[in-house]
Amino acid sequence: MRKFKTESKKLLDLMINSIYTNREIFLRELVSNASDAIDKLYLKSLTDSSVQVDQANLAINVAFDRDARTITVFDNGIGMTADELEKNLGTIAHSGSEEFKAANAEAQGDAVDIIGRFGVGFYSAFMVAKEVSVVTRAYGSDECNRWTSDGVEGYTIEPVSADDPAYRSTCGTTIVLTLKDNAEDADYDEFLSEWKLRELIKKYSNYVRYPVQMLVTKS
Ligand code: ADP
Ligand code: MG
Repeated sequence: MRKFKTESKKLLDLMINSIYTNREIFLRELVSNASDAIDKLYLKSLTDSSVQVDQANLAINVAFDRDARTITVFDNGIGMTADELEKNLGTIAHSGSEEFKAANAEAQGDAVDIIGRFGVGFYSAFMVAKEVSVVTRAYGSDECNRWTSDGVEGYTIEPVSADDPAYRSTCGTTIVLTLKDNAEDADYDEFLSEWKLRELIKKYSNYVRYPVQMLVTKS
């Protein structure tokens, strides 16, 4: 296991343990990352004629499984290499985080709506998930890798073999959240509903430039 950097760990603790936080924003963050990843692939195709992208197929998919208590966000964007997984998901390094930390210092631990106001990114998944797995394949790479974490101390990165059902034969990223167990003050099962997920997509991701599709495989 590789350990999270100290400042990432602090932010994780803050997000996960803040009971006032608007947990539902996790979906907005994951959809926005998926959209950014598709943008990057599309941009690459504009500047490099060897990169072929079928524009009609660019989309973000959201699915859930009530029995497994998982939510999956799937994109066919640029994906990540193992090095990029390490760099991008091992540290909180995104644009919003500096502002976030400054605002948090000001508020002196009062995290009430700070998290809602800033884009806190990928790690917000840990507000609802006890485990997050990211299976990804970078454009142009024939390797597929999995990053897994419980959002506490650290994460693992391992190759995914072609006979693994999660293996991606094309580029892009699949993020699977295994929801936390329900507690007296927190009902995570509410997110395991087509209606709820559609509501969140409409509320927070209405202006995403790629189609956000709900895949309903189980009734
Ligand atoms: P930000 O989106 O502000 O950069 P995030 O915490 O949301 O910060 O994401 C961190 C980084 O992880 C992103 O900048 C990107 O490089 C990478 N990443 C996250 N999700 C994806 C994805 N679906 N596809 C490719 N890269 C991703
Ligand atoms: Mg982001």
